[in-house]
Amino acid sequence: MNKNLQLNAAAIEMRCDQAARQVDIEVVAETGSTNADLMARLSALQSPVLRVAVHQTAGRGRAGRPWLTVPGGMLTFSLAWHLPQAPQNLLGLPLAIGVALAETLNALDQNVQLKWPNDILREGKKLAGILVESAAARDGGTWVVIGIGLNLQVSDQLESEVGRAIADAPWLAKMDRNDLLAQLLNALAKALEQFAAQGFAAFLTRWNTLHAYARQTVHILDHGQVLHRGTALGVDLHGCLVLQTEQGQVNVLAGDVSLRPAE
Ligand code: ATP
Repeated sequence: MNKNLQLNAAAIEMRCDQAARQVDIEVVAETGSTNADLMARLSALQSPVLRVAVHQTAGRGRAGRPWLTVPGGMLTFSLAWHLPQAPQNLLGLPLAIGVALAETLNALDQNVQLKWPNDILREGKKLAGILVESAAARDGGTWVVIGIGLNLQVSDQLESEVGRAIADAPWLAKMDRNDLLAQLLNALAKALEQFAAQGFAAFLTRWNTLHAYARQTVHILDHGQVLHRGTALGVDLHGCLVLQTEQGQVNVLAGDVSLRPAE
């Protein structure tokens, strides 16, 4: 394989900023799900861990939905991190992670936007997905595991397996993978330190600036049924989507609902 495409823990470590230096980095050739691997080890963790899989065979999205991959065509990794907040105060975290990821990708000229609650879109299609799982820690804080799947170069076959148009990033696919991963890790570590100190407040305006459907009519679906229809105004301090509906303003909790632009 092209040397630039090979992932290597030491090469990622070399490029880590201050906030990311405390992270133990692991690279594995293949695993089912890096999130599942780290969730299974949470009670034994002493410090943050980044687990990167060259190939992930059973990636997951929210509510057990699958995250599909092609070997070599994407970055799949998870970061386990301890936060001082209790689990119930982490509603905005997945959105804050979306902001950190989107800002990093935009600094690399990717022109991405955010779809509530936490998908990264490029040209209106999904480029990356984020799955945040968590478990209460013994000290009253929370261990979170943040999983990210970023499409670099996908095939028509993968797109037909997903069942809708998806985005990729051929220019990023040519970048040194260790450098790309280090840039993402640096941004995530910085965002997590910021979230620990200030919560979602530090990300609110940034999220709304990146909002893909600002002032557009959208549907909120629950198990395929339209729960709400309205104009998407943005997100609030809890990470809820603020919708202007005919019945008035509704603040929608992420839970397991999905957003779709209205036709
Ligand atoms: P939705 O995309 O329906 O709004 P969601 O935002 O909750 O749901 P996630 O749970 O984050 O989505 O991700 C899982 C979904 O992403 C799958 O149901 C599938 O539609 C889509 N998907 C799976 N693999 C990929 C991929 N490699 N690239 C883009 N989209 C994918």
